[in-house]
Amino acid sequence: MPVRILVTDEVDREGVELLRAVPEFTIDELPTLPAAELLERVDQYDAIIGRSATRISEPLLRRASRLKVVGRAGVGVDNVAMDVATELGIAVINAPAGNTVAVAELFFGGVISLLRHLTRADSSMHEGRWERSDLLGTELRGKTLGIVGLGRIGGEVSHRAHAFGMEVHAYDPYVSDERFAALRVKRAATLDALLEAAQIVTVHVPLTDETTRMIDASALRRLRPGAVVVNMARGGIVDDDALRAALDAGHVAGAVLDVYLKEPLTGDHAFRGYPNVVLLPHIGASSAEAQRNVAVDACAAVRDALLNGDLSRSLNGALAGEDAATLGPALLLARRAAAVARALLAERGATAIDSVTLKMGEDLTSSAGALLAAAAAGTLEGVIESERLNLINARALATARGLVLAHGEGGFAPHSRAIEVRLVAGSQSMRVGGVAALDMPPRLTRIADFHVDVAPRGTLVVLTNHDVPGVIGRVGTALADAGVNIAEYHQARLAAGGDALAVVTIDGAPPAHVRASLTALRDVRSATIVRFGGDA
Ligand code: NAD
Repeated sequence: MPVRILVTDEVDREGVELLRAVPEFTIDELPTLPAAELLERVDQYDAIIGRSATRISEPLLRRASRLKVVGRAGVGVDNVAMDVATELGIAVINAPAGNTVAVAELFFGGVISLLRHLTRADSSMHEGRWERSDLLGTELRGKTLGIVGLGRIGGEVSHRAHAFGMEVHAYDPYVSDERFAALRVKRAATLDALLEAAQIVTVHVPLTDETTRMIDASALRRLRPGAVVVNMARGGIVDDDALRAALDAGHVAGAVLDVYLKEPLTGDHAFRGYPNVVLLPHIGASSAEAQRNVAVDACAAVRDALLNGDLSRSLNGALAGEDAATLGPALLLARRAAAVARALLAERGATAIDSVTLKMGEDLTSSAGALLAAAAAGTLEGVIESERLNLINARALATARGLVLAHGEGGFAPHSRAIEVRLVAGSQSMRVGGVAALDMPPRLTRIADFHVDVAPRGTLVVLTNHDVPGVIGRVGTALADAGVNIAEYHQARLAAGGDALAVVTIDGAPPAHVRASLTALRDVRSATIVRFGGDA
């Protein structure tokens, strides 16, 4: 039977050509179909490639008896019922790169439009006026640009900013000094320091717990009067209400927005009518080149998946040849141990990870590569967009960010299925380990020099404290006062009366103020909260 592929949502022609070139493939190229019609015919297809308009829903996937691959020419996969696809063994492939330059160029388009009043100038001319007097603008040259997030887009923006003669500063605690040096960008030690220096501040970070409303009222107050704020990353990173107040007060001179909390914007959105806010309808990736890049990328990956079973680009792909039942818990442990180690280092201010080293017991050495991928994924979790991170690409993503990954050759003896992850960040290091035995769920058994015993699931709170009576009671009360239910509590110490460490697992996510309540307690020195995401 020929392989039949549905291409929809106007995926760029160059991508479709790649598929047409394969004799075994029959291609149906159709406009976005109404859901009922697609449901009717979905069982004919081995693959569907589209953009965001076609919803790949649970009923659709369940009906699609031949479907092996869903391709998304773009980044976001919110339109795909990912859990159901995974359950049914259908690979989901996206195209995370390809739109970097489009966003970076739009940044300058938007900012120059704001600073030189281009939209007003243009509409007044179209309306038959010749008004120059109130169109006096400002230049980019000599201005300080503050980039939050020096990843792919942030990096491209920095290159172009140099060409404009700008001074470029950035805040990204997760990238190395080498990247800052290579991009000739001045490192801001804190977000506050960046905001205090910047005349134009732009965010290029994923939307995570840490970045949600990271540009809030107090952040905006740090900006120099007359600064400009740009959000082309994700709605919610800049707090809308706070930005509006800062614009009303005249403290912020203008803003450029391409992304919103709720899209599309509803009728009377707060920023409509502000002459000093350039509003764009999420067109960061809307260039012909970007659409071509993501189409070619997605179509090539779908082709390789169908022809050669290559699932290396699949977001939900299993690790070929590995036994999910026995290796799954070990992967989960490696990923979560790395996430705990990263959070503990971050608590001490060490966020730019240099290396990840893994040791494992003899029964796991044959899976060292997969386990190292899991540890790399745990290290990058919450730093990289979750749609881009999986066990297959984690090592490549980590290496591309300059992380050194290594695993020991065995001989790690605590248990034949023990794992220890060691992260190094500058002069600091942290090791976290555990056991993924076959007959019980994985346990974390070591944090730094402390022996602990808890399940790495839900939310983990790691406290360091002085080993004196009463601390456990005070912690329990503080958590109870915050309405937090303790699942497990393990107290460990090195020597009586010295340093102690407690690991508490709790159900669900704790309220935001819990950390501050815990660190305010007498004899508690630090509190680190790790919310586990992503399945290994
Ligand atoms: P990337 O992963 O390459 O870079 C993100 C950077 O943010 C990383 O270097 C990471 O270390 C840094 N970071 C993470 N958490 C941080 C924090 N708390 N503080 C400071 N830095 C932090 O991602 P990218 O491809 O450059 O994309 C950046 C953003 O742009 C994403 O939110 C993406 O969704 C968005 N985007 C928007 C459009 C659009 O159409 N407007 C198109 C593409 C991408």
